[in-house]
Amino acid sequence: MNGAAADPACVIAGGGPAGVMLGLLLARAGVPVTVLEKHADFLRDFRGDTIHPSTLEVLNELGILEEFLKLPHHEAPELIGWIGDIRSPMADFRHLPVRCGFIAFMPQWDFLTFLCEKARAYPGFDLRMSTQAVSLIDENGRVAGVRARGPRGEYEIRAGLTIACDGRHSTLVPAAGLTPRGFGAPMDVLWFKISKRDGENREPGGRFDAGRIFILIDRGDHYQCGYVIAKDGFEAVKSKGIEAFRAEVARLAGLEDARVAADLKSFADTSLLSVAVNRLEKWWRPGFLAIGDAAHAMSPVGGVGINLAIQDAVAAANRLAAPLLAGGADDADLAAVEARRLLPARLTQWAQVQIQNRIIRPALGDAAPSKPPLFFRLLARFAFLRRLPGRLVGMGVRPEHVRTGEAAGP
Ligand SMILES: Cc1cc2nc3c(=O)[nH]c(=O)nc-3n(C[C@H](O)[C@H](O)[C@H](O)COP(=O)(O)OP(=O)(O)OC[C@H]3O[C@@H](n4cnc5c(N)ncnc54)[C@H](O)[C@@H]3O)c2cc1C
Repeated sequence: MNGAAADPACVIAGGGPAGVMLGLLLARAGVPVTVLEKHADFLRDFRGDTIHPSTLEVLNELGILEEFLKLPHHEAPELIGWIGDIRSPMADFRHLPVRCGFIAFMPQWDFLTFLCEKARAYPGFDLRMSTQAVSLIDENGRVAGVRARGPRGEYEIRAGLTIACDGRHSTLVPAAGLTPRGFGAPMDVLWFKISKRDGENREPGGRFDAGRIFILIDRGDHYQCGYVIAKDGFEAVKSKGIEAFRAEVARLAGLEDARVAADLKSFADTSLLSVAVNRLEKWWRPGFLAIGDAAHAMSPVGGVGINLAIQDAVAAANRLAAPLLAGGADDADLAAVEARRLLPARLTQWAQVQIQNRIIRPALGDAAPSKPPLFFRLLARFAFLRRLPGRLVGMGVRPEHVRTGEAAGP
């Protein structure tokens, strides 16, 4: 069974930030593009709500920022850390040379739904929900599209270029014979929700306590909480019992025991994120390219995974739209996208691994220092130092700008 009347120039597997943004940019430039998303909607577990200043700048360049900012969101001009009981700003976005000097916190599904609505206005955009890319069509060593499984069964989508945006557990990357190199991670994160009371207002931020790191993000009707544990340490946490865990959460979050007990009935109310940091040795082969988490799984340190995924998408569209319109992208085009985005991924992951190993690992160890790390104490003390993490988190290395045009207005 063939899936489409006409083959698209490009098929994208994965409707996360990388895939949806790339689909929008290519369709806007006039490239026929099919985006496959295996889920029926974008309403999934928490996986980051941060829309960074550089992403907001991309929306500004696309002329859709004002409309986007009308959606419910929370603006954070600073990221706040708690060192013990002392409130301390950690990153300052107000001085960035962009339209929005803040991170917008917004559920990722609202962000993706908004981008899809914009993309649907272009005739070349074909989004297929509940459709999973299951394997690659390989013809004489060149990827010629994907086999997909959707509501109509299994079928082929032939395309000049296949782009894997299917995240850190990518199906297509191993199918393409590409392998990641891992850089290790000393921690995992237990995520869970605690309900929010009317009128309560808490800043998003992290708390560093002796031997503990705790994250709390206000998501409108509830708090998303992250309890950072040593790698593979979940069994040890469980062995101490749910009461001990609840007491720890109530203390770190500064919330009443009863509310925490009501929301954390057992460890089944938590979900474990196994943290991984890795990067493909090579991001492409003829007819195939991987970007976003599929090419480089990021550590949660700094909360920059979405930012990198969006920036990869902008860079890929900038380089690939013209050749795709002219008949097809060749190896040099694909290698150019990797060359452009390798440095940001490499430098960001290097910084994350340094923070993981020098700050987080010792902070989570049995002999955790009672004082917060020097790095945090310096940030807490000197306001001008907070501009550096503001720049790295808010803009990233080598921020991308939209260079693709708009073929036909929506
Ligand atoms: C719990 C958690 C919290 C996080 N917090 C933050 C944060 O605060 N800030 C931040 O910047 N980053 C955060 N991240 C990381 C961030 O979510 C990722 O870096 C980012 O989403 C990567 O975007 P992506 O488009 O490359 O991949 P993904 O967002 O993983 O998107 C991949 C998409 O592909 C789909 N898919 C997978 N396989 C297939 C297939 N075979 N066929 C079709 N579709 C497929 C998936 O359903 C998904 O929609 C967090 C991640 C997690 C797990």
